Amino acid sequence: MVTHLFSDAGRTWRQAAKHNSHGRTIYEALLREMNGPIGIAVHFQVQRNAEIIRSLPITLANQVNEHVLREVLKGTRADEIAKQIKTYFPEATKAKANLIARTEVSKTSTALTQARAESVGANWYVWRTSEDSRVRGSHKIMDGVLVKWNAPPSPEKLDGQTRTFGNYNAGEIFNCRCYPEPVIDLSLVSWPAKVYYNGSIHRMTRKQFERIM
Ligand SMILES: [Zn+2]
Repeated sequence: MVTHLFSDAGRTWRQAAKHNSHGRTIYEALLREMNGPIGIAVHFQVQRNAEIIRSLPITLANQVNEHVLREVLKGTRADEIAKQIKTYFPEATKAKANLIARTEVSKTSTALTQARAESVGANWYVWRTSEDSRVRGSHKIMDGVLVKWNAPPSPEKLDGQTRTFGNYNAGEIFNCRCYPEPVIDLSLVSWPAKVYYNGSIHRMTRKQFERIM
């Protein structure tokens, strides 16, 4: 099944590294991938969203970005990466390091998934939440909704909140544990499905979806 390969880079590669004797080979394949067009797309996304850039001098910010990307590829856990990058932060901002690190790890995973998905023409994904009680209301609304990578929603706006954070994809905002699951094969989606389109969520049949995709 192709979709689970994409679903959560962190989880997948952490497992591969721990339980698979080929962990090293997989990691080396990933590094090679980072030298090609997928790597360029990931770097672009990561740079574009980086909170770190606002919190640190630019050269340091780039080092932290590289560090986060490398560790995400290795499958290191978010808390562990947070601990590692704390050392880069000046004393005054150390308290923020944890939140920033977790956010960047999540955004990097999403960027990697997006780059891989779009490279094979998978322009839509299913927004998945961690489906527990800590999922915020606005993200519960998004659970199971089909989203186009280049037209993300504002979940807060869909939830009728006055304080919004702009439009973003699954996993791209602070304290978010949601992840995108690329749609590779329409027959794997259960129709009718919820689709985010033109600023709201619609229930669509496969035929209706094919007309707008
Ligand atoms: Zn979320």
